[in-house]
Amino acid sequence: MDRTDPPPPEADIVVVGGGILGLATARELVGREAGISICLLESESRLAAHQTTHSSGVVHAGIYYEPGSLRARLCVDGAARMRDYCRARGIPLSRSGKLIVATDRSELDRLDQLEQRGRANGVSGLARIAGEGIKEIEPAASGIAALHSPETSVVDFGEVALGFASDFESGGGTIHLASRVSAVRTGPGGPGGGSTGPGHPGNHALVIETDRGAVKARRAVFCGGLQSDRLARMCGGSAGPRIVPFRGGYLRIKPGRESLVRGNVYPVPDPGLPFLGAHLTRTTDGTVLIGPTAMIAGARDAYRLGRIRRHDLADTVAWPGTWRLLGRHWRAAGHELRNSLSPASLVREAARLVPGLTTADVLPGPSGVRAQAVGRDGRLVEDFLLEETGPSIHVRNAPSPAATSSMAIASLIADRVQAGA
Ligand SMILES: Cc1cc2nc3c(=O)[nH]c(=O)nc-3n(C[C@H](O)[C@H](O)[C@H](O)COP(=O)(O)OP(=O)(O)OC[C@H]3O[C@@H](n4cnc5c(N)ncnc54)[C@H](O)[C@@H]3O)c2cc1C
Repeated sequence: MDRTDPPPPEADIVVVGGGILGLATARELVGREAGISICLLESESRLAAHQTTHSSGVVHAGIYYEPGSLRARLCVDGAARMRDYCRARGIPLSRSGKLIVATDRSELDRLDQLEQRGRANGVSGLARIAGEGIKEIEPAASGIAALHSPETSVVDFGEVALGFASDFESGGGTIHLASRVSAVRTGPGGPGGGSTGPGHPGNHALVIETDRGAVKARRAVFCGGLQSDRLARMCGGSAGPRIVPFRGGYLRIKPGRESLVRGNVYPVPDPGLPFLGAHLTRTTDGTVLIGPTAMIAGARDAYRLGRIRRHDLADTVAWPGTWRLLGRHWRAAGHELRNSLSPASLVREAARLVPGLTTADVLPGPSGVRAQAVGRDGRLVEDFLLEETGPSIHVRNAPSPAATSSMAIASLIADRVQAGA
C-alpha cells in the first residue's frame, strides 16, 4: 500500500490529520489494537505540513502550566516519553536547557510563581540562578535573576512525526495523503441520528467523505489542527470554541553570530497572555531563532505575512470571541503587530535578554500559524481540550506544548477510544 493510494471503503478506526498528534494517536492505536483496520487521512500531499514543522522545536519541561491541568500532566509525561523515543530511534534531541530570565525587578514575583509551578508539576532539575550566575550558562545573556531548566530540549518534531508514521505503517496501519475530509455523516446511533439516504453506514457508525472517496468507520479521531473546529462542527460538535489563527514570525541569527545563544533563552511571560513571549532558541541544526511573534492572521495558512483567505478571515471576524479578545488585549495586540512588522522592534525585545544582539545580526526567519481555540466570551482556551461526538473524538485545542506532549495525548485519546469501543 502506497501513501498516495485513495482511502479504503471501510476501516474500524479512522484518524484524521497527519500532524504529530494524528500520527502519535494512530501509532498508539495500532500498537494497542491487534487485528483491526486503522487508516489515517491527510489533506496535504505530505505529512506534518502545518504546525508540526513550523514550531520552535522545544521539548518543554512543564514549568508554565496550571498544576493539575492536562497541559501540566501531559507535558511532563510527554517530554519524558519524547526523550525515550528519540533515544530509541536515534532521532537527534539536544538537551540544551532553558533560562527564563528576569530583566526587571517587577518580574521577580512572577519568576517565583513559575518556579513554584514547575516544582508542583514535578519538573526535575529546576534551579534559581542569581544575576551573576546567568553568564555561566548563557555567556551573552544578562538579567537580574533566572530560572534554569536543564531538562528542556530541542528536537525536529517533523522528524519525530515521520518516525511515528513509519511505526504506524509497520503495525499494519495505512496513510492516505491528499485525502481531505469534506463531510461526515453519522449513523442511527450517532449524534446526527437517523441518516437513511445513500451511503447509509449500516454497521458502521460513520461515513467520512474525502476528496477521493468515502470511508465507513466504527470510530474516528480528528486531529485537524487549524481546521479542528470545522471538523468538530461537521460531526455535530459544539459551536465554540473556534480556532483563531495566530501567525508567529521568526528572525534568525546570521551564520557566524549564532554563538550568542547556547540553548534556550526565554523572557518571564505575562500571565495574562497565552504565549510565552519572543525567545531565542538554538535548534538541532544550530540555527538560532528569535520569536515567534503572535498576530491574528487573515488565513489559517498565513505563512506569508499579509496572506488572506476570505473564508478564514470571515470566520475569524464573525466570531464574537475574536472581538472580545482584542478588546481585552488591545495593548498586547498592538505590541505584537509592531514586532511582526518591524524586525528592529523584535530585535530590541530580544536584546533585553541578550544585550549584544543588534539588527545587523539577524536575517528573516521561518513562520508558523498557531491553532488557538477562543471561546465566544473572548477567553483563550488554555488547556488541551477534547470533545466526543458519538463515535468521534475531536482534539479541539492543542496549542504548545502539544508537540512535546504528543505521545501522552495519544495515550489519553487511545484510552477513550478503547473505553467507547
Ligand atoms: C509558531 C509555533 C511555535 C510552536 N512551538 C512549539 C514548541 O516549541 N514546542 C511544542 O511542544 N509545541 C510548539 N508549538 C505547538 C505545536 O506545533 C502544535 O501544538 C502541534 O504541532 C499540534 O499538532 P497537530 O497534529 O494537532 O497539528 P498540525 O501539525 O497542524 O496537523 C494537523 C493536520 O491535520 C490536517 N488536516 C486539517 N484538516 C483536514 C481535513 N479536513 N482532512 C484531512 N486532514 C486535515 C492538516 O493538513 C495537518 O497536517 C508551536 C506552534 C507554532 C505554530
